[in-house]
Parts: sequence; structure tokens; C-alpha cells
Amino acid sequence: MPKIGVLALQGDFSEHIKMLKKCNVNVCLVKLPEDLIDVQGLIIPGGESTTIGNLMQRNGLNKEITKKHKEGMIIYGSCAGAILLAKDIIGSSQPRLNLLDISIKRNDYGRQVDSFEAQLSIEKIGKFNGIFIRAPVIEQVSNGTKVLSRLNNNPVLIQDKNILASTFHPELSNDKRIHEYFIKLTKNFL
Ligand code: GLN
Repeated sequence: MPKIGVLALQGDFSEHIKMLKKCNVNVCLVKLPEDLIDVQGLIIPGGESTTIGNLMQRNGLNKEITKKHKEGMIIYGSCAGAILLAKDIIGSSQPRLNLLDISIKRNDYGRQVDSFEAQLSIEKIGKFNGIFIRAPVIEQVSNGTKVLSRLNNNPVLIQDKNILASTFHPELSNDKRIHEYFIKLTKNFL
């Protein structure tokens, strides 16, 4: 049974924990670098990416996450988590992990549509109700990145080798298929 950690500095980590508990895996909260021991997969939740980034930097978690990722730990970032993984956050110099070769723009769906739901079609998964909350837009991905779903032509779920990122929140839908897909990645690197 894989051990999956959820970064628990700020944001909706408890929803991810609830979802993972339904998926038959060992789950742990990650607040400090030592919490990553034996973790095969890490989820970075939605929340406020500047806050999470600053806290990660303060306690050295950013360095430990990068080190463990090089050693094989799979990472999934949802919404703010996707922003924190990106190499390029358009117009921002906020702290980040710098692991995923994408350009992403924060809060880019405009005010009136700050939050919305959309019916997505996801490769290998099928139809999925996407919940978007002050979501960022992925404007560019590198050549090696697999786009698993798009909305208005912008990628909303992507996979780059051992990193998965979504601009929506599957932990808020009553549907565990994306979490299961991530868990499968931690077992046998797809
Ligand atoms: N707007 C947030 C940010 O830029 C992300 C929102 C979310 O995670 N739901 O960090």
C-alpha cells in the first residue's frame, strides 16, 4: 500500500485527506521536512499559493520536496498546488518549487466567473465534473507534457512524467478517479 502525503500548511488539505482515505492508501499530513520520510506520492492542495510558498520556504520543505522528487516521489498539485509547481508564474516572483515546465497565470478567469463548474472530458478517465475556484490558466506547456484535459482550449489537467497538475479541485467532487489515477502513478510510473 503506497504512503501518500498531503502538504498541510494552508488550503484545503483536509478534503484531499478525506478523498485519499476512501482510496485505500496510507495517508499522512506533511508540515515539516521529516514528514516526507517514506512518502511515495505528495499532494499539494489548493489554497493561497503565495502563503503556501512562503511557509514552505520558511521551514525548508521546498528543498526536501525537490530532493525527494529527484529520488522518485510523485507529486500532484491542484490549483494553488499547480501554481507552486510551475517554473513560470506570469507576472509574479513568488516562491515556487520550479519543477514543472509550464507558464501559468493566477486568477485568470476574471471576477464574474471567480468560481464555476464545468463538464470535462479527461483522457483515460472520461467525463468529470471540474470545480474551478479562482483558478489559474495554464498558458503554455513544454513539448513533453501530456495534456489530459482542456477547457476553452487551455490545459486543465496535465502530466509531465512524474508530476500531475490540475487547475480544478477534484477533492471537492464526490469522485475519486483522479486521486486513483495519481495513486496508480505512485505504484508504477505510467
Ligand atoms: N487563486 C489562488 C492562487 O492564486 C488559487 C486558488 C485555489 O487554489 N483555489 O494562489
